[in-house]
Amino acid sequence: MNEELLQYIWMAGLFDANSLYTKDGQEITVYRRGRLNTDSGPDFTNAHVRIDYTDWFGNIEIHLNSEQWYEHKHHLDKAYNNTILHVVLNDNKICYRADGSILPCIELKNKIAESTIAKYKQLKQSKNWIPCFDAIKSIDHFTVQQQLERVLSLRLENKSAHLELALKKTNNNWDEVFYFALARSLGFGTNSEAFEQLAHNMPLNIILKHQNQPLQIEAMTFGIAGFLEEDFDDVYFQQLKQEWQFLKSKYSLHTLDKSSFKFMRMRPGNFPGLRLAQFAAIAGKCPELFKQICISYTLENLKDIFQIQVSDYWNEHYQFGKTSSQHRSNLSQQAINQILINAVVPTLFIYGKTMGDAMCCEKALNLLQLLPAEDNVIIRNWQTLNIKANTAFDSQALIELKKNHCDLRKCLNCKIGTKVIN
Ligand code: SF4
Repeated sequence: MNEELLQYIWMAGLFDANSLYTKDGQEITVYRRGRLNTDSGPDFTNAHVRIDYTDWFGNIEIHLNSEQWYEHKHHLDKAYNNTILHVVLNDNKICYRADGSILPCIELKNKIAESTIAKYKQLKQSKNWIPCFDAIKSIDHFTVQQQLERVLSLRLENKSAHLELALKKTNNNWDEVFYFALARSLGFGTNSEAFEQLAHNMPLNIILKHQNQPLQIEAMTFGIAGFLEEDFDDVYFQQLKQEWQFLKSKYSLHTLDKSSFKFMRMRPGNFPGLRLAQFAAIAGKCPELFKQICISYTLENLKDIFQIQVSDYWNEHYQFGKTSSQHRSNLSQQAINQILINAVVPTLFIYGKTMGDAMCCEKALNLLQLLPAEDNVIIRNWQTLNIKANTAFDSQALIELKKNHCDLRKCLNCKIGTKVIN
């Protein structure tokens, strides 16, 4: 048993609430267990209990042993004067509040079912792919769905936190915030940091000046990425290099180290060279992309924004200096879907939240419902547990659930975990 579990048991009411008495024989009736307080101060606020014949409204403090009241120095802290009840596993010491009054205490040691503790231990000690691996198949669809909706909001909030920083940095320039999110999404995980750094080194206002000059935008993209430091004979490379020398000194642009971009264990279609060419094509097509996204109302309109044409060179190359067989160099449907999921949806969501525009948040969520589910090892593993992702809404929620809840064993904060333990 630990304090987290005891708090959970109190919060969920998983104890025998009949015949509760303090050690000195006062009868306790619990009407409201209170609201969990995640800030400083007592563990639960806004509780209501009756002690003998008197009703009390206030806070509740939870400890494994009552002596922890003193260890944590609550007896000196006025913030705990409104604690109406001490809930402990073992009552091993009489406790006083800072004002000198005795704090009534109930001991739950013999009031908690063995099975509750056993199920919790099973979750905590499980070595399965997810802790509730053996139990989740028996959990009803409605509970799973409720948990998925909850974690999806958290996923968008987490992604938004990153964008909020960009928003501050750009002085609320939404086109620029989206430009950074777009760069990150084109890094497809492995190269996301490098792509975002590239975007920071290549300001959007400079792209705007070269909007109809794709060669210049490509030259800046590859130059800043450090890809033009080498030497290759082909004409396209030499043209880029020449443009880059001029633009670099004109705008005082800074080069990244090419090694920031990773090639290892990647399909050629994901090689940074081709992805950088695609990024340059999107950025050059319309630097005020976010405005365009806001006025696009159908999925098809949104997808059209990312239909781009890169330089012919990339139809026969995945990287500089190495000719390959002919291939498509524009973005695949799958890549466009990933940009919509990872850049468009979070930016629309935070834009809606910041501007108080509920329609915009709804547009972001609807978009996830319209896009197909992602296909990766996490989604396939969920499927073996009979939890199938039908849309990107489901797949994003399942990824969040696995990475930020199951892997961190936050089962006590999970509706599925609550069902398993109950
Ligand atoms: S967080 Fe929820 S879904 Fe994940 S293992 Fe725990 S109970 Fe299961």
